[in-house]
Amino acid sequence: MSKTILITGASSGIGKVAARKFANEGWNVIATMRSPENEQELTQLKNVLVTKLDVQESSTIEQAINEGIERFGQIDALINNAGYGQNGLFEAMTPEQIQQQFDVNVFGVMNVTRAILPYFRRQKSGLILNISSGAGRFTLPLLSMYCASKFALEGFSEALSFELSALNIIVKIIEPGGTSTNFGKVTQEQFAYNPELTDYDEFTKAAGKLFEGLIAQRLATADEVADVIYTAATDGTNTLRYVVGNDDFKKR
Ligand code: NDP
Repeated sequence: MSKTILITGASSGIGKVAARKFANEGWNVIATMRSPENEQELTQLKNVLVTKLDVQESSTIEQAINEGIERFGQIDALINNAGYGQNGLFEAMTPEQIQQQFDVNVFGVMNVTRAILPYFRRQKSGLILNISSGAGRFTLPLLSMYCASKFALEGFSEALSFELSALNIIVKIIEPGGTSTNFGKVTQEQFAYNPELTDYDEFTKAAGKLFEGLIAQRLATADEVADVIYTAATDGTNTLRYVVGNDDFKKR
């Protein structure tokens, strides 16, 4: 019988490519996203269920899980992929921007994980793949909140892997480096910068240069990341971390 995987944030980037990869490998895929009505490609695949899930809305999480089980009989694995990066000067960030970064990247993962665990416990098996980042172990300027969120995700994932291993529920962490997706397309609006903070100008320039240097390295493709996610899902090991791309992170 085919295995079934639920993926969050499957509307674009790594989540979408991973959904396609697992489907091509014969898995049933519950490709979840905030706006499933806009999805055109994944809906064409017969072993893919495209459905709504906002990691900040519990009712949509419950519904997506129930719908997936109804369609495919069970869920074997979860990819907590939905996430984004709040860029810019920390001092210029609004309290809402600060809160939202954790609401999605940390509490969002916890919301989905907490909802699926009763199923995994009852079926006495399950796999949780959390998409962290190189920035979950190494910091970058102008990404303080993003780094903080992914560091939190790493701590949560590692502790959970210990907590659940006796129940045959495996937790793994994927750490992509810079990857070519919508993630890097930061709009002015999303970038926290306040021109009145003039004493930051020199710092911002220097930090910006360092930041540019880091992201100017060869970006991984979403396909490369999806291949590693697939390996993590199928290699049968209890390996905790999988690093993808970004040689700079590997050197540090
Ligand atoms: P994309 O921006 O292409 O995809 C992000 C996905 O997350 C989208 O599907 C987006 O949905 C979804 N999302 C955002 N907020 C929510 C929410 N509240 N509820 C549900 N879904 C949400 O970026 P990537 O594919 O690159 O990012 C995927 C993951 O990879 C993230 O966790 C990111 O931190 C991580 N990562 C990315 C790297 C990179 O350089 N690209 C490097 C390291 C890690 P919507 O379309 O509705 O906005």
